[in-house]
Amino acid sequence: MKKSIFCCTNCNFQTDLTFTDPRCPKCNEPLAVLSPIDHENIDIKSWDKPFWERYSNFYPYISNSAPLLGAGLTPLTSLSDLADQYDLAALFVKNETMNPTWSFKDRGTAVGVNHALSLGYQRIGTVSTGNMAASVAAYGTKAGLDTYILVKGDMADEKMNPIAIYGVNLIRVHGDYGQLYNKSLELGAANNIYFINSDVPMRIEGSKSIAFEIAEQMAFDVPDYVIVPTSAGGNFRGIMKGFVEFYEAGLTSKIPTPICAQSTGCYPIVKAFLAGHEKISHFGPTDTIAHGIENPIPPSGNAVLRILKKYNGLAVAVNNQEILAAQRVMATNGIFGQPASAVPLAAVHKLHQQQQLPKGSKVALIATGSGLKYTAAFAKHKLHSSETTVAELPQHFQELIK
Ligand SMILES: *Cc1c(COP(=O)(O)O)cnc(C)c1O
Ligand SMILES: [Zn+2]
Repeated sequence: MKKSIFCCTNCNFQTDLTFTDPRCPKCNEPLAVLSPIDHENIDIKSWDKPFWERYSNFYPYISNSAPLLGAGLTPLTSLSDLADQYDLAALFVKNETMNPTWSFKDRGTAVGVNHALSLGYQRIGTVSTGNMAASVAAYGTKAGLDTYILVKGDMADEKMNPIAIYGVNLIRVHGDYGQLYNKSLELGAANNIYFINSDVPMRIEGSKSIAFEIAEQMAFDVPDYVIVPTSAGGNFRGIMKGFVEFYEAGLTSKIPTPICAQSTGCYPIVKAFLAGHEKISHFGPTDTIAHGIENPIPPSGNAVLRILKKYNGLAVAVNNQEILAAQRVMATNGIFGQPASAVPLAAVHKLHQQQQLPKGSKVALIATGSGLKYTAAFAKHKLHSSETTVAELPQHFQELIK
């Protein structure tokens, strides 16, 4: 059987899986894994297996030595009242808040740690402002690797502690955050540290399991549309890669139309798409409540534009008010996501108003991370509770129950 290789997402560059630069040396666009898939012998194993074993035809290069910590197998929840409200046949939420560190990042981290171990690394690291830091900290610790987490110099203690608790090397770095990304790769090369940064190929391989699970959870039907809140673009690329691989393997009969959702406070990809450009440009300054999707210069931005073009996708940006409203509606449907997680539902609302979502469509939203990750959002909602004494509780109930 042919081996898996890295391939450029833009030009014809190819190399083997020991290559450590996540970008193409010819055109500087991101690399991706290309695996030969034996269509005759697809074997999807039971749900108690790690996703790379369950879908082993699609992960032929992975060993089982890395910790999974239960990543994946998240619920696909159907919100039928909302589907009716938006004239849709179905509205699903893929609830990624239920991963071990409460965001989808765990899928890519698990695959990245697997890759690092297979190459013999004893050190891993990441540059992150949030969910990726906690995820790499958890998996690095569990795998027994020396783990280095580089964060912004002004990061609040409240956000440092949920990373520090894993007992890793956590480093506040003052100065330009954009430069830190390249610096980390240099330091990684010099010190044998495998940096699992935002859109490295193995993160994409983790995210594609989201698509595989959605297809399985829909009995190998797929949604007409999938809406992904997008920052670096890695998750978007991974989810589409998964849908394409299942389609090409003959497991599903079509590929969903992708919708890239961003916030109006940071929408470099949507902006380029709407202007018909093939390349993104730096967006700045940013200002959004959806901090999970606040990358002003997404490293996979051009790759996302290529995918949108190829699959006739849509791109939409929503503002803070729309995001907060959607966050509240999701919570009243039992799913409390951080603001970035509410962006897809806000996008449905907006696209419905603009009559861009055909009646009777099936739509899947990716709720990427937990609401408890960003408790500052509580202050933006008018939340209330009531108060009474034990003695007055019966009277209080009478008033409440009416
Ligand atoms: C990382 C993250 C995103 C964006 O994913 P990208 O792969 O950077 O596009 C969206 N939502 C949440 C909660 C995240 O943590
Ligand atoms: Zn290239």
